[in-house]
Amino acid sequence: MPAAAHPIAHRIKAQAASLGFDAVGFAEARAVEPAARQCYERWLAQGRHGCMAWAGRHNDVRDDPRLLLDGAQSVIMLAMNYYPAFRQPADAPQFATYAYGRDYHEVVRERLHRLAAFITEATGCACRCCVDTAPLRERYWAQQAGIGFVGVNNQLIVPGRGSYFFLGAVITTLALPPDAPCTLSCGQCGECLAACPAQALDGTGAVDARRCLSCLTIELRGPLPAWAGQAMGNRVYGCDACQQCCPHNRQATATTIDELQPTAEFLRLTAADIRQMTPTEFSHLFAHSAVRRTKLTGLQRNQAAIDHATAIGQEQ
Ligand code: SF4
Ligand code: SF4
Repeated sequence: MPAAAHPIAHRIKAQAASLGFDAVGFAEARAVEPAARQCYERWLAQGRHGCMAWAGRHNDVRDDPRLLLDGAQSVIMLAMNYYPAFRQPADAPQFATYAYGRDYHEVVRERLHRLAAFITEATGCACRCCVDTAPLRERYWAQQAGIGFVGVNNQLIVPGRGSYFFLGAVITTLALPPDAPCTLSCGQCGECLAACPAQALDGTGAVDARRCLSCLTIELRGPLPAWAGQAMGNRVYGCDACQQCCPHNRQATATTIDELQPTAEFLRLTAADIRQMTPTEFSHLFAHSAVRRTKLTGLQRNQAAIDHATAIGQEQ
């Protein structure tokens, strides 16, 4: 039965939209296809997960979402637009757009729990919510659920809407009619390959985390590689280069979720502020922000790398 003709499926999609999700789709909970599993295993074996040791853990669960919830029948995938209405000045130390507003773990999780409560109340079925909090291949399942496709830039691209989306999942024991997987692809575009300042993309849709500035500036503990400062330009936290250049993002519209908008204080932040920031100021400014992940030491390390590369550039 198509989702539109399935009463509870239709109500779940309407409820997701009322909670602020921009796209929702259903996939049958089952093992990940062998080709996708092998691709991930190859990526790990080549060490391209870099400092993200967690990427190699719990692979049995990552390969089968039924291990996340007893009796799981469906994976409900949801996407939430985070593109902000206001942006930092171009000469400010740049933060990845996803980190402009309140931490997505909090914003998305709260809405996933409300959707799960709705499902359980309506059907008695169990649910488990995931937002980067479990070994689940969110982008793979989003493609399976028909929300979009994984681009050469390793991002989930929602056709006609772009890639500035958070993904969340509700795994449930409720059997839902699966949506048709998205079969679109990037075609011959390749703009992100040229735009990546760190040569971290190889054209297959995989990213080399050992080179990706997003991974290095956020996930890496300890010193950055010597080459990174120059590649960073003025990116002090994360990198959006492979999304900014993507033709799918030319029509990006601002999110309707207030918590995802940046504060005026954040938009005023300068490089000098970061250099001089105290732990108390960091805790205040980023109290509910994903930027906490890198801690003040990481943020100041990143700013120092930018400063060092700038000083060398001026000497030459
Ligand atoms: S986030 Fe930046 S460094 Fe990483 S792949 Fe995209 S463009 Fe390259
Ligand atoms: S820039 Fe082009 S190749 Fe890269 S993700 Fe976007 S559409 Fe795909």
